[in-house]
Amino acid sequence: MNYQSNRMGQIPPYLFAEINKKKAAMIESGIDIIDLGIGDPDLPTPSHIVEKLMEEVQNPNNFKYPSFVGCVEFRQAVADFYARHYGVDLDPETEVLALIGSKEGIAHLIPTLIDPGDYVLIPDPSYPVYRMATLLANGQYYHMPLLKENNFEPDFSIIPPEIIERSKLMFLNYPGNPTAATVDIEFFKKAVDFARRYNIPIAHDSAYNMVTFSTYKAPSILEVEGSKDISVEFGSFSKTYNMTGLRIGYVVGNKQIIKALSVLKSNTDTGQFTPIQKAAAFALNSDQSCVENHNNIYKERMAAMLEGLESIGIKVDPPNASFFIWAPVPEGYTSTEFVTNVLEQTGVILTPGNAFGPSGEGYFRISLSVPNGRLYEAINRIKRNVQLKNNKKSATLSS
Ligand SMILES: *Cc1c(COP(=O)(O)O)cnc(C)c1O
Repeated sequence: MNYQSNRMGQIPPYLFAEINKKKAAMIESGIDIIDLGIGDPDLPTPSHIVEKLMEEVQNPNNFKYPSFVGCVEFRQAVADFYARHYGVDLDPETEVLALIGSKEGIAHLIPTLIDPGDYVLIPDPSYPVYRMATLLANGQYYHMPLLKENNFEPDFSIIPPEIIERSKLMFLNYPGNPTAATVDIEFFKKAVDFARRYNIPIAHDSAYNMVTFSTYKAPSILEVEGSKDISVEFGSFSKTYNMTGLRIGYVVGNKQIIKALSVLKSNTDTGQFTPIQKAAAFALNSDQSCVENHNNIYKERMAAMLEGLESIGIKVDPPNASFFIWAPVPEGYTSTEFVTNVLEQTGVILTPGNAFGPSGEGYFRISLSVPNGRLYEAINRIKRNVQLKNNKKSATLSS
């Protein structure tokens, strides 16, 4: 008996499954695992946000069905943030929609815009949801390779005309997961030009927009003149304010797209719990020093890890944003081989690059979501125990 649709049958087995099985077995046998695989911040949600949430939970009115599109305070706070931070004007009534986490909106946008058989242009490597939600909508994806020599930007000029013709949506994501790549506004101008020429809506995923270091400021695609004609941008509270479990995000930009997505959503979910929306609005409206503090912590962790990697012969340019390091695997390994080797020899979990798409092969991702002590421990274990093929220097480091 096969109790699943053909559509579900297309969803490939989860690449993390094998690693997770191994992790469970190793924990069982008493091995101390350091998980640098998960992209979930370890730092707590700032206390002023938690206090606001608790206050709103005391109000019985907040236990009714929430507004389908998001409460007024939430949408206004997002519009104010765009005006203040990017100089972008948004109408909170028509150009801002609350989401149950940006993942929910990303997944629902695809059936909103594509019919079965249509193409979605997807960066490779990227967040797996773009790809899986396309398959769930009976769509097809075309991978735009992100190569280091192109600053991990897609080359629009190599997309075949017959694919362009059948494409109804393009995803972009900067600062990028898993690459940690960042762009300036010039790249978004190029992307919007391309999208307008071929009438392909852009969905820009800006989950890491505020996780940036030093003087780098991540631009919004909506800063590009005329981009609202063709673009929407997803935002999340998960990474900026360590609110992953609260499930709250937003989409802003093109009115028609937002209207269509809200019709789909109003027939699927009924919005996020109002106290969570109000706590998120409060997060945006409050002092932002918590964001800066978190970013300083990530920056410090990043420097420590980059130094650790360099000591075993892996060189990575310091990222401007995100809490990821996207590193090449040492010579002689595939991504899966290297990650498996490190896990077996050190108990440190890394993510193989090919989990994010075929162009991720040859890389691995480190998520800096553990405290410094654990990070140093992970680095030391790798230094001590990982014998790199074709690498005499590292072999002598091994104990
Ligand atoms: C974490 C993440 C998201 C999802 O964020 P939520 O708002 O928690 O759903 C979306 N896109 C990327 C690239 C992410 O890394």
